[in-house]
Amino acid sequence: MQRILQPGEIEALDRIDFPRIRLPQPATLFAERAARWRQLAADGHPIADYLRFVALLADAQALAAREIETAPVDPALLARAVTHAMPVLPAADHLDPAWLTALDEMLSVLANAPPSAGLPPALALLAQELQDTAPDMLEAFALQVLHGMQEGTPPDTLLARTAQPLLVAALQVAYADRASRLDARALPMVEPATVCPHCGLPPVASVLRIGGEAGGHRYLHCGLCATEWHLVRVKCSNCESTKGIRYQSVEGAGEVVVAETCEHCYSYRKLVNQEKDPYAEPLADDLASLTLDLLMGETDYARASANPLLALAAEADE
Ligand SMILES: [Zn+2]
Ligand SMILES: [Zn+2]
Repeated sequence: MQRILQPGEIEALDRIDFPRIRLPQPATLFAERAARWRQLAADGHPIADYLRFVALLADAQALAAREIETAPVDPALLARAVTHAMPVLPAADHLDPAWLTALDEMLSVLANAPPSAGLPPALALLAQELQDTAPDMLEAFALQVLHGMQEGTPPDTLLARTAQPLLVAALQVAYADRASRLDARALPMVEPATVCPHCGLPPVASVLRIGGEAGGHRYLHCGLCATEWHLVRVKCSNCESTKGIRYQSVEGAGEVVVAETCEHCYSYRKLVNQEKDPYAEPLADDLASLTLDLLMGETDYARASANPLLALAAEADE
């Protein structure tokens, strides 16, 4: 027999019923990243110039996000994904043409940026070169980039390698748009639990959220579509081992970003802690904490998956 819950019990249930999946909101996602990078740059950050460049890129993403609309997801694909505990739309198999619209929009923003915006000349030239590239070639580049993100390898073609951050930025706009149109409760529980339930790519970092129903919970954050999915703390986000998880941080850096290391697979992935800084954003803070990667480079732990915008650092330095 079904028992009717009393109001207090309903509230108690509500408290444990935190969201398993948090879908991105493109209308604010890119603007928040841009603001976060500018905030970190203003605090005299060691790579302040570089953070200002990626903030410009995120501005262009925010504008492009308003211009595109990806196709609705086929319910049959969703049902199949749930049955087989698979991601709904593995990224490289489901490239929505809206990504090209996003790229177009972003390139024209970058090409028309005033000198005061501080865009590095090399990037302005790169934007021009992509504008002159045929759409089918751009699509081939996009597929190289997506396969590379999956496999942890760089794209084969030189131009795709050089332009990776710009291509990734446009792809992020399209995949975040599509993720934002899904129903979070309808998404599958995927196997392994360490890949994005929407696009199947590995997370760029994880985040300990504050506020609202997600507060106090740890989520893995997709480096492509920005979908977040819950994974209990003290569990490796790479091999799911629960033994030998430790945390390392840069001395004096405030522990907003720590490296979570695993004794089982000898990988590390960063955990961005909003309890230490409410404005911390997983992808933005991961990128801005290169010092921690340098520190980890001297240990036996290998980075579990790259930040897809990182290649821009090398570009900007040149
Ligand atoms: Zn994803
Ligand atoms: Zn592990």
